[in-house]
Amino acid sequence: MATVPRLDITAVVDFVNHYSVRARRAAHDEDKGYRALDEVLGPVAQDLPPLAVGKLHALADDAYEVFVRSEHGEDVTAAVNDLLAPAGPTPRLGTDGQIAWEVTDGRAALRAALGVGLLDWVHVRGEDRLGLCQGVRCADAFADSSPAGRKKFCSAGCLNRHKVAEHRRRAAARPA
Ligand SMILES: [Zn+2]
Repeated sequence: MATVPRLDITAVVDFVNHYSVRARRAAHDEDKGYRALDEVLGPVAQDLPPLAVGKLHALADDAYEVFVRSEHGEDVTAAVNDLLAPAGPTPRLGTDGQIAWEVTDGRAALRAALGVGLLDWVHVRGEDRLGLCQGVRCADAFADSSPAGRKKFCSAGCLNRHKVAEHRRRAAARPA
């Protein structure tokens, strides 16, 4: 049995936005190359068996689907379960009293980690706390932990670019 690393939602979102071809295509930078897994996930990546980059893209796209469905107001249940099912994570009670997850095939550990991370988030925070950035040339996934829960942009950069674009649009529409 292999232990499933614990990924917080920030790590899940980082992974999805970095490797999802669907997200990268929206930004027109899918051909710009992809950093190594340990640069995206940090030390956690050292405990994972190496996966081909095509596998990383497929995993990220599967996880991205959860954010797409949430953004469109659709049920995310099937997308979360479809992400988890092929990995078949098994829960185990750790000596620290925490739930630990294991997989029989270590190559499924990352899939399981992404699935469990999203499972936890949807269970605790709710599926409406996931979405896609409304920014200019951006469709990155985000998890909204703000008190109001009305996040629309993945980052301050995208919010600012949106404001500038809106300002220009209004200025252009104004009669001279
Ligand atoms: Zn964005």
